[in-house]
Amino acid sequence: MEKQSSILRAISVDGSAFIHAVDATALVATAREIHNTSKTMTAVLGRALIACSLMSVQLKGEKNTLTLQIQGDGPAGTILCVGDSKGNVKGYAQNPDVELPPNDLGKLNVGGAIGNGTLHVIKDLGMNEPYHGMCALVTGEIGEDITEYYATSEQIPSACALGVRVNRDLSVKSAGGFLLQLLPNADPDIVTKLEENLENIGSVSQKIADGMTPLQLVEQVFADIPFDILDGNEVKFSCGCSREKYSRILATLNQKDLKSLIEEDKPVETVCTFCNTKYVFGIDELKQYVKE
Ligand SMILES: [Zn+2]
Repeated sequence: MEKQSSILRAISVDGSAFIHAVDATALVATAREIHNTSKTMTAVLGRALIACSLMSVQLKGEKNTLTLQIQGDGPAGTILCVGDSKGNVKGYAQNPDVELPPNDLGKLNVGGAIGNGTLHVIKDLGMNEPYHGMCALVTGEIGEDITEYYATSEQIPSACALGVRVNRDLSVKSAGGFLLQLLPNADPDIVTKLEENLENIGSVSQKIADGMTPLQLVEQVFADIPFDILDGNEVKFSCGCSREKYSRILATLNQKDLKSLIEEDKPVETVCTFCNTKYVFGIDELKQYVKE
């Protein structure tokens, strides 16, 4: 059986900071299979999906969703991910097969693929108007951009680290990350200690590639800081689309278009952009939506 991806939650005993840490190797491997991403784009989409899962499990309501949209001017095009509080996350990249040479550090060039632009976060909390926050991209490496987003748009001091490693055969070797956030009135001594710990932690994807678990990641970030482990959460790539969902879109087509499709004897084919599932609707089915 395929290994599950899971998120671990922990909070410092004094209530200064909390953290979500995830081993998302299985999640990113599924995304790679669905979208057949290049090496660089596996890292781009993978990091965005990890970030989206870390952000969306913080949602309170069962039906709440969080959309993370990264709009850069680089060759990757737009990256869109959607997650919910239960750990379901889906996403796609506009140009999944873009490949770039490694960056100056010899790493997959995520920042180069994304380029300059903006990061948008849309939270649908079941109210009339969804919440919409945004910030300018800092490096396009996604982790720093998420940190910037929380600082400027939500005024929450945070640190986000994300990592994806890809094998020579393009399969996902490891993927994971963490999102650390300060709570109001955080103890300045704890903050200083956290900053020291973060400096010492190094490459998260390297650590996960070396077999480090979310618990060990939490232990490193919270080194010398007492903390409690809260509940965990499974995370998985899950689209939630269905034939019924798409047939409802058909029902909204205007009658003229519908009739001309029937006259041309053209079955309607739709492909879900998130999971690449193809749905075909035959002429007989189209005829059901014609109102006489
Ligand atoms: Zn789908």
